[in-house]
Order: sequence, then structure tokens, then C-alpha cells
Amino acid sequence: MRPVVIAHRGASGHLPEHTLQAKTLAFAMGADYLEQDIVATRDDQLLVLHDIHLDGVTDVASRFPTRARPDGRYYARDFDLAEVLTLTVHERTDEHGRQVFPGRRAYSGGEFRVHTLARELQLVADLNASDGRTAGIYPEIKNPAWHHQEGVDITTLVLEELTRFGYVQHTDPAYLQCFDEQELRRVRHELGSQLKLVQLIGEDDWSSEATNFAAMRSTRGLKKLAATVDGIGPWVNRLYRHRKGDGNITDSGLVRRAHAQGLVVHPYTFRSDALPEGFATLDELLHFTVDSLVIDGLFTDFPDAVGRFLQNRSEGS
Ligand code: CA
Repeated sequence: MRPVVIAHRGASGHLPEHTLQAKTLAFAMGADYLEQDIVATRDDQLLVLHDIHLDGVTDVASRFPTRARPDGRYYARDFDLAEVLTLTVHERTDEHGRQVFPGRRAYSGGEFRVHTLARELQLVADLNASDGRTAGIYPEIKNPAWHHQEGVDITTLVLEELTRFGYVQHTDPAYLQCFDEQELRRVRHELGSQLKLVQLIGEDDWSSEATNFAAMRSTRGLKKLAATVDGIGPWVNRLYRHRKGDGNITDSGLVRRAHAQGLVVHPYTFRSDALPEGFATLDELLHFTVDSLVIDGLFTDFPDAVGRFLQNRSEGS
């Protein structure tokens, strides 16, 4: 079976993440799904942006130097959409201004911009209509509890926008993803969404959020998730164990346990320039996860490289 290719923030290995250019390239590379991370502005507009902060990928600090919060960060929630649209997007940098992926192209032009969820959904609709091939969408509600504290119900706004663009039924080409287990339960059982849902599973030490990821990976945890969601999006490193001495790789059993509960498994993030421990090449990682573990899909910054692997694999069989 061929796993679905999810373009993680677009073809973000080649163009700045979450730009319309990165999404268009991912579509052209044949990605099955295009990912949207979603955060809200001060005027309750939905942006396609990975962080609740703007400073990792834009020139906000130089454009609006007085607008940081006491922690030094520039929050999308503190800016109106009109202000955000004037910012220039660059390749992701860390707090020291160094590129997070040093080997990636540092585009210096001002052609890259932040855009709204509506703009991207319209682009996907236009590309699908023009090409005849349907790429799906894979929106993520970012930090719903934090947004709630900030006075906005981001989840309801996202569901309204998805409905407006025709993403309503379980069979529609969309997966809605979130790290927040409680919010996904709300989406399914309180707000009544029929869309396919994916529980993202992180590491408990990544943030202070209450969600207990370790428990989710157990049979009992997965069974509980299956009452609400259609699949899980685990960190790829949790699919296997790597023995330090001889480098031996063995199955952690997570994919099998999830499949036993009827859940699809879409791990993140497959990058040729940032491989998980124990793998020397992207193809090695793909061979193990696709052919041995039989994952159902994967998030990648390089939909072209993954597409080539899958093409060669189908020709070889
Ligand atoms: Ca995401």
C-alpha cells in the first residue's frame, strides 16, 4: 500500500515554510496533502503560521521593535491582519538569528509573505480545479487552550472556514490535526465535526501543556483515542528503538498497536537534512517505516524525495 505524502508546511525543504510558493511547489511535486498550521491575529483572522510567534520566520522584530511581550517574543495575537500582511517571510531562524536548517536556501527577496487560511484554501481549490488532481488539506489547530486564554475560540473559527470551503464530511479530502486531546474530543463530540481527525503525539518534555503523551502511546491510550479520532501523528522517533552500540533498529510496536485499534499512523517529520537517530539516509528511513512498519502516511519537508522513493518502490515490485 502506498502511504499518503503530507507536505509539512509545504515543500518547506525548498522554499520558506507556509508560504504560498511552498504550497504551490508541494502541489506540483505531487503531494497528497498540504499542511496548514493555524493561529489567530488580534482581529480574529486566521493565519497559516507554525508558531504563535512571528519572530522565527518574519522581519517583525525590525519592523515593529516596540511590540514584543515581556518575554521578548512577538505574538501573532498582538497584531492585526493588515500589519501581518506587510511582513516579509524568511527561512526559519533560531533566537540567535541562525538558520535552523543551515543547508537550506536563504532567499533574500521580499516576495515571501504570511497569508490567511482562506487565501490558502482558495489556492488549493484553484490548483485542484486547474490540474484535475485533488490534493487534500491537513490543517492543525495550534495551541487552542492558549488561544482561549487570549479570548478567541480558534477551533470554531477554523471549523467555520473549513465548512465555507466545502470540507465537512468524513470522506472530504481533509484531516484536522491537533496536539490537544481534549480539544479534539470537543471537535468530535461537542461541535459535531465529521471530518477525519488526527491526534498528534509529542513528547511530554516539549512543553508545559497538560496532555499526557506517554499514556496515549499505550494500547489503553490508543483505544481511548480511537473513540474520537481516525489516526495518530506520532514523532517518528517513537516508532522504533535504536541500540547505541551496534546501531540495531527494532520496531517499538506503536504502529501495530495503533492499527489494532483501527487508527491510521502518519508520523512526522521526514527530512533528508535532519534525520532521526539511527538512519543515514532518507531512503533508509522510508524503507524501514514504509516497507517494514507499514505506516499509512508521513509528514515531510521534501515531498519530491519521498515521491521518488515511492515511485521507484512501485516500479520495483
Ligand atoms: Ca503542524
